[in-house]
Amino acid sequence: MNKVHNFSAGPAVLPQSAIDASIAALQNFASTGLSLIEISHRSKEYTEVVAEATQLVKDILQLGDDYAVAFLQGGASLQFDMIPMNWLGEGETAAYVNTGVWAGRAIKEAKLFGNVNVLASSEDKNFNYIPKNYAIPADVKYYHCTSNNTIYGTEMFDFPDTNGVPLVCDMSSDIFSRPFDANKFDMIYAGAQKNMGPAGTTLVIVKKSFLEKRAKRIIPTMLDYKIHLENESMYNTPSVFAIFVCMHTLRWVKQIGLEAMEKRNKAKADLLYAEIDRNSLFVGTTAIEDRSRMNVNFVLKNKEYEEEFLKFCKAKNLSGLKGHRSVGGLRASLYNALEIESVQALVDAMQEFEKMKA
Ligand SMILES: *Cc1c(COP(=O)(O)O)cnc(C)c1O
Repeated sequence: MNKVHNFSAGPAVLPQSAIDASIAALQNFASTGLSLIEISHRSKEYTEVVAEATQLVKDILQLGDDYAVAFLQGGASLQFDMIPMNWLGEGETAAYVNTGVWAGRAIKEAKLFGNVNVLASSEDKNFNYIPKNYAIPADVKYYHCTSNNTIYGTEMFDFPDTNGVPLVCDMSSDIFSRPFDANKFDMIYAGAQKNMGPAGTTLVIVKKSFLEKRAKRIIPTMLDYKIHLENESMYNTPSVFAIFVCMHTLRWVKQIGLEAMEKRNKAKADLLYAEIDRNSLFVGTTAIEDRSRMNVNFVLKNKEYEEEFLKFCKAKNLSGLKGHRSVGGLRASLYNALEIESVQALVDAMQEFEKMKA
């Protein structure tokens, strides 16, 4: 089989070590003679997987015992509800920044539970930049942002100083892509299927002190962070397979380290953006200073070439380059596990296409 270069935005490319380990475990998990997908989640062999995945998250992000980690279900989207349900009481206010579809959905759900103060928005330019220089009011319950806007290709490289306001962040599409000070955050969440594993589980990281500040309302058990965190992802049956793949991806991330991962990711993104800027047929769509290293959005200046270019790419085993249905154009997702050879193959295709059209 020829290697397919996987630029999909999610579910997305994973390290080969995680795929190989998954294949082996589907046959015979941890020498149990049983498949990973037919064993009890409470078996000793499997509880070790959840424990290791949890510890790897803490090790990689250098989190101490003041943080709790769990792998939940319902996608990042359920977090849009759980966060305000747990922390935003009726009549209270939370601050959000609107940087795209996902941030917008988080805002929509928060409004079901309390007041939302949208501090800034980049909707005026179809979310092609990250708003800056806004003040975070001192009296809000928390401030919520989205570190990487998967659909638009913008990324927050700096987080505002919240002056004691709890900092909550959707890191679904750039977690573990670079070093950052995780200890500044009260709550971080990330759907696994962008940069950490297959679909089916969502990582949540909560500062224990924040857990004690939950809103005074009745929270259904399955939507209560305290229950899930105290039960270490095992209140009910977790996503057995997905957490296993996450554990193997996290082993790989830890082995490389976040600093080296950032270098890898920067090299890939620089290579592709340089070609977009050089090539006469293409143009980038996001503000240069906010260009994401994870999702690279660009268009053909002549829109009539778009379908042809996508077909041309497909023939060269370059997959997943069509932009999100809400913005169109092209998008190359360069998550951790994508190798620079794949980016080079895309750059080569762009150059060949340019010669064809000259
Ligand atoms: C994909 C994505 C989501 C939605 O994730 P689901 O797991 O499908 O609910 C939310 N936020 C960001 C930043 C995303 O990239």
